[in-house]
Amino acid sequence: MLEKDIERVLITQEEIQVRCKELGKELTENYQDKNPLVVGVLKGAVPFMADIIRSIDAYLELDFMDVSSYGNATVSSGEVKIVKDLDTNVEGRDLLIVEDIIDSGRTLAYLVDLFKYRKANSVKIVTLLDKPEGRVVDIEADYIGFNVPNEFVVGYGLDYAEAYRNLPYIGVLKPSVYQSN
Ligand code: 5GP
Repeated sequence: MLEKDIERVLITQEEIQVRCKELGKELTENYQDKNPLVVGVLKGAVPFMADIIRSIDAYLELDFMDVSSYGNATVSSGEVKIVKDLDTNVEGRDLLIVEDIIDSGRTLAYLVDLFKYRKANSVKIVTLLDKPEGRVVDIEADYIGFNVPNEFVVGYGLDYAEAYRNLPYIGVLKPSVYQSN
């Protein structure tokens, strides 16, 4: 049903599963004995977070943060507002932020600064997708699933008007979907 709205698939479900296992292996090595706090950025990171944590063979804890950008739907002002904060005190903890995509980098730059200000011991980022051409702020993820071109993508957590988050792959929408809204 959702598939009729998709113009083309960029990354298949199988490719995502393979990459999650590869990243999980690296993270398992790097986080042994650190009991990291894995911070999911709602809502887009939920499917990726569910997969990546099950690929990490180490003790870890989970928490979630929800942030939104001020501004209207198309132009972000660059300011970030906390909608839901963590429940956990991050002081002295090793944090691993899980994101769906890094575009301008503003959201993550804000979160990294915030967690450093709160005295986290280390702050690293794992993102499913990276859109390097969209970058406005100088920030890079430590672990990247896939690079994507500067196009609007949906699926695997990523939405268009809150829909398509449950697509099991990453795709590009048909232009008719935007035109009908
Ligand atoms: P940044 O602060 O890096 O510009 O924005 C990151 C957020 O913007 C992501 O968490 C995501 O919600 C949204 N975003 C950026 N690019 C895309 C895209 O191609 N598709 C969708 N669905 N959301 C995107």
